[in-house]
Amino acid sequence: MTLLTGQASKVKNYINGAWVESSSGRQEEVFNPATGEIIAYVPISSREELDAAVRAASRAYSEWKRVAVPRRARYFFRYQQLLVQHSKELAELITLENGKSLEEALGEVQRGIECVEFAAGAPTLMMGSQLPDIATGVESGMYRYPLGVVGGIAPFNFPMMVPCWMFPLAVACGNTFVLKPSERTPLLVNRLAELFAEAGFPPGVLNVVHGAHEVVDGLLAHEEVKAVSFVGSQPVAEYVYKQGTAHGKRVQALAGAKNHSIVLKDADLDHAVKNILSAAFGSAGERCMACAVAVVQEDIADELVGRIAAAADGLKIGNGQEEGVFLGPVIRQANKDRTIDYIEAGLDEKAVLVRDGRKDAAAAGNGYFLGPTIFDHVVPGMKIWRDEIFAPLLAVVRVKDLAEAIAVTNESPFANGACIYTDSARAVREFREEIDAGMLGVNLGVPAPMAFFPFSGYKKSFYGDLHANGRDGVEFYTRKKMITARY
Ligand code: NAD
Repeated sequence: MTLLTGQASKVKNYINGAWVESSSGRQEEVFNPATGEIIAYVPISSREELDAAVRAASRAYSEWKRVAVPRRARYFFRYQQLLVQHSKELAELITLENGKSLEEALGEVQRGIECVEFAAGAPTLMMGSQLPDIATGVESGMYRYPLGVVGGIAPFNFPMMVPCWMFPLAVACGNTFVLKPSERTPLLVNRLAELFAEAGFPPGVLNVVHGAHEVVDGLLAHEEVKAVSFVGSQPVAEYVYKQGTAHGKRVQALAGAKNHSIVLKDADLDHAVKNILSAAFGSAGERCMACAVAVVQEDIADELVGRIAAAADGLKIGNGQEEGVFLGPVIRQANKDRTIDYIEAGLDEKAVLVRDGRKDAAAAGNGYFLGPTIFDHVVPGMKIWRDEIFAPLLAVVRVKDLAEAIAVTNESPFANGACIYTDSARAVREFREEIDAGMLGVNLGVPAPMAFFPFSGYKKSFYGDLHANGRDGVEFYTRKKMITARY
């Protein structure tokens, strides 16, 4: 790791295969959230710099779209090898800039690699379909083509996995790409781009422009950009979807979440405690599939809450680079302050604070740490039930039965994930049929689908039609031509 204190470097843009320093004259500090130290400076690039990247991508597209699909796939085999070789280094970089534990970061790297593996299946994924005789002597066929230049806008919480939902599949389908990473975690993406170049991809196929809303607005308005993939918070997702579609682009915008986990009285409680603990407090709760609300049948609520709180006391909080650390910092001081405001709001609304993460020793240090925080007796309508807090804060809602648990879950404005812990197949079936969320888990905490399935979500958790990954991803990054022919 070369990024140590005193060596904070300027993050560069990657345009047309070259590393270029931004000339915008604007930059922001990138912090190590575990220490508060500045580790780099990220440029807030200008519209002109974005335009240069789109021009490069557009030029590269005219060649790249003609590269035979199996050849395109072969680049991804090489890329996959490089990512595997560099897994540990990539994970260390994620921990440095995001704060999550090294173990979580290694898991993220693996999920990113799986996206590249899926993209390498492009020859099969890109296939069309034919019917040899739609009428006597007349045949019809569907052929699949890329769109052109695609833009991607990523959040801070998965610096590797989320960009890997986007550019590998888009590029494997024959598009070229302009990526704007989160300004809070810009380092990992540059390493991904370096390895991309090492895998031999031609210049201009992937471009990286660092910055903020000016670059986003540029992507949303640029005539040459045909589609935009966005992942981030709900208000920005809605904005990106509305602006992008108003400019005639395809947009998939994956947004915020407030995932509920239902625990019925017949659940294996050891298992439920372990999984909820990990889903609520792992990655400091900064996961769009985190468990934010436990909806617990009242018969077992005292026992479950007591056991989760006791287990939370045993979690090691600290710098994710250290062995055995479970809970790292949140991304910025502002996120910590915002979470503390929510703790106050929970108290004002008369929820019962069972465990106060502000009191953990780590919360007094330099990093942006907050210990596991648990509120019991939360009721729908309270701020801590409704809003996405995106921090290690678990709200517990007590219910009398499954029907009430489903009703509470479905009342949430978000609909990303939902889980159930139970031994009853009938309850699982009712949950599956009645729950209004896109990704469901049964007796597990974080039901994030693998790269060959869509990353689903509804309501305020998703804006668009086609989700990221899987067949949806292929549909999103391609257009079809129908040929009808008589010979
Ligand atoms: P964010 O919305 O603050 O930022 C996401 C991206 O949008 C960044 O690249 C940022 O630069 C840009 N952006 C921010 N404000 C903007 C504005 N006003 N105009 C234009 N662009 C803007 O999100 P974040 O804090 O980086 O990430 C956390 C959020 O992402 C959480 O809400 C989380 O649930 C969500 N998320 C969702 C999924 C999912 O699959 N649904 C996955 C990961 C993260």
